[in-house]
Amino acid sequence: MELTLNSPLDMHLHLRDGEMLKNIAKFSAQEFAGALVMPNLVPPITNIESLLSYKKRILDAANDNDFKPYMTLFFKSDYTADFLEKAKPHIAAIKLYPNGVTTNSEGGVEQIDTKKLALIFEAMSELDIPLCVHGETNGFVMDREKEFGVIYEQLATSFPKLTIIMEHITTQASTELLERYENLYATITLHHLLITLDDVVGGLLNPHLFCKPIAKRYEDREALLKLALNANKKVMFGSDSAPHTIDKKECCGCAAGVFSAPIALSALAELFEKHNKLTNLQAFVSNNAKNMYKLTPSKKKITLEKKEWIVPSSYDDVVPMFANQTLKWKVKSKI
Ligand SMILES: [Zn+2]
Repeated sequence: MELTLNSPLDMHLHLRDGEMLKNIAKFSAQEFAGALVMPNLVPPITNIESLLSYKKRILDAANDNDFKPYMTLFFKSDYTADFLEKAKPHIAAIKLYPNGVTTNSEGGVEQIDTKKLALIFEAMSELDIPLCVHGETNGFVMDREKEFGVIYEQLATSFPKLTIIMEHITTQASTELLERYENLYATITLHHLLITLDDVVGGLLNPHLFCKPIAKRYEDREALLKLALNANKKVMFGSDSAPHTIDKKECCGCAAGVFSAPIALSALAELFEKHNKLTNLQAFVSNNAKNMYKLTPSKKKITLEKKEWIVPSSYDDVVPMFANQTLKWKVKSKI
């Protein structure tokens, strides 16, 4: 049994920089036609020069793979309309982080005041630049995303022409919000379709499944699955694959992030097949993103076959999701 996916896209990816970038870019570059690359480096990507040089480093690390990095800027409250106009040809979106909510988000927005930031959001609406948002407050960890819903509503209603992407949604509340406003869209990760908080801390602590936003309840996972499996046009696959070396994960002060890039398509095929929805995977991993972001990726085709394989315990110094476990689908060919 085989499955061919046309131009798979990962619309939320952390490729890091330096040695890590060189080691891990290939996993996405081999199996995806493109990816939306997050800008939370140290320092973050906030100008065109650093964006273009980062893009070049990504392309170098991707080697001769047919892979397009769709670049993003790290939202700053002092961006001007003039700057955004100059940036527009080089970017697919701008990513907004509330200050301090996740890895390298320092320097993010202190307070998302839609009035104070109106000029930027209006310019982005005019220029048709989507706004990607890490939607969490600094509140209680299980409620952060739900609490952020108020800000999503303010953004959606104040700027109806602005395309807003709720990144890596994890709650039933977010799935409801998404349906309420025409200009809200969302990415969903693989891990939030598969795990709940029980998998992270219900038994022995699993640092490799610790991520932000933290995995939630069973009913939340069900709500996410319903959207993804039914090819809801407002959701796209975004792995949020976020590698950290073993010493940063298996330690006191474990860094947040799940490394799923090398197994993402295999595990998605297994999940969609389990629910008899394999034919909807194409929409989730490509078509919806193409429509929403108006992308024309290369015609790369990835064929998977139903063949068991054991996921390695680590790739270089990074432990992937499903390490040492058996997956039922394997990537067979890439053209
Ligand atoms: Zn992320």
